[in-house]
Amino acid sequence: MSRDLDQLGAEYEALIQFLYLAPVGLVQADFHGEIAMMNPISAQLLMPLSRDGGLDNLFTALQDVAPELRNLCATYGAPSGKVCDGLHVHLNAGGVTGSAKRVPQILSITLLKLDATRLMAVISDVTEQVRRERQLRQSDAWLNAILTGISDYALASIDWQGRICEWNPSIERVTGHGQDIVGQPFSVFYAPDAIIPEHLHDRLREADANGWTLDEGRRLRADGSTFWGSVLIAPLPDREPLPGEDPGPAYCLILRDISDKREASERRRRETFADYLTGLANRRALFEAAEQELQRSQALPRPTALVVIDADHFKAINDRHGHPGGDAVLQHLAAILTSTFREVDVVARIGGEEFAVLLPSTDLTRAAVVAERLRAAVASQSAMVDGVAVRFTVSAGVAASSNGRGGVDLLLKQADQALYAAKRAGRNRVERWRPELVAKRPHDHAHHPGEDADAA
Ligand code: GH3
Ligand code: MG
Ligand code: MG
Repeated sequence: MSRDLDQLGAEYEALIQFLYLAPVGLVQADFHGEIAMMNPISAQLLMPLSRDGGLDNLFTALQDVAPELRNLCATYGAPSGKVCDGLHVHLNAGGVTGSAKRVPQILSITLLKLDATRLMAVISDVTEQVRRERQLRQSDAWLNAILTGISDYALASIDWQGRICEWNPSIERVTGHGQDIVGQPFSVFYAPDAIIPEHLHDRLREADANGWTLDEGRRLRADGSTFWGSVLIAPLPDREPLPGEDPGPAYCLILRDISDKREASERRRRETFADYLTGLANRRALFEAAEQELQRSQALPRPTALVVIDADHFKAINDRHGHPGGDAVLQHLAAILTSTFREVDVVARIGGEEFAVLLPSTDLTRAAVVAERLRAAVASQSAMVDGVAVRFTVSAGVAASSNGRGGVDLLLKQADQALYAAKRAGRNRVERWRPELVAKRPHDHAHHPGEDADAA
């Protein structure tokens, strides 16, 4: 018996401890509100309400701010339970004390009926919390206004891996996607083949480094149709997640339908970066793209390949069909190039009848396979020139960099050496660069494969 009493005593002691240390105000009172026990926090929270400096009765203390409490208790029928739950009471509301306007303080009060005679009040200061919630609601409303008011933008948040965090009406309006889009990588907005997973990470890294990243190109809607759009990604502030916490949104993404502006921006682009005859990228565009890709591949190691392609015996084609005929053949070749390589590959005309293709995230072997597919496609199709079918072939040299070091110059030099080897070996072939090629022929940028090969 005395053991039980000891235990009860210990539990009571523990309860008192808890009351004192609890991070919220706890008040125990009888059914008339007479306070039996309260912890320091509740004393601190309730003291400003006391008229005479004392705190004897809970209902009296709260009379001015929550007069309904006494009545709520009196009419509460159940033997025990919550008389009220998180009732917000405003202190100093509108009150001006001295010269400084005091910020209204908000207390949350939960009243529990423990049994027929005892009440427990849980009191906490929720001023800051209420303020933040209001702020959040305001920015929500603000954001909603933006999202519904602007028709050609879609706004999404994405996590640190580039996965979409939440859906909103602007996404549906621009892309037709629904809730199903949550959790998918943001490449879901890109036309197939227009982006590779490595580029997703490049974008995020660029946003980290520069504060934002912007790209423009063919974008995809949920129904498979495409449009011309831009994607802007910027890091969100305070995105350091707590350990073990779901990281949540890390970037905001703005997808914009710029179909209207495409024509103008395309014309500008074409003027500086496109080859007039074929519409492919020009030498400058290829070099810029290659520099950028190689630099990125140093940060996130992956191979980059370059294929250099040269039409075989093109002088003879010009001789037989005239220069305009030769031009038509080059256009035909450009079309085969475009259909053979991916959208993410950069296909460029770098000289008269010389082309080069940059293949991001592609090693030597895979690049050689695609180059071989191109070679075979060219050899098996004929170009129509003034109703005459013209057969011709191409030779290709393939080189790859595993880490982006050495730059475009080295890559182009090696691809050129491999191309030269293909010409020497009889044309209509693909050769991969290998170290022995260096020994055979020191690089000469102004070489003419035709003449060299003929001389050999
Ligand atoms: P191979 O490459 O197989 O060694 O022989 P090739 O006859 O192609 O040799 P070479 O590279 O020396 O000659 C390229 C020819 O391509 C020379 C030039 O008349 C022609 N050419 C260069 N640019 C153009 C162009 O824009 N249009 C046309 N029609 N012909 C061009
Ligand atoms: Mg040639
Ligand atoms: Mg040539």
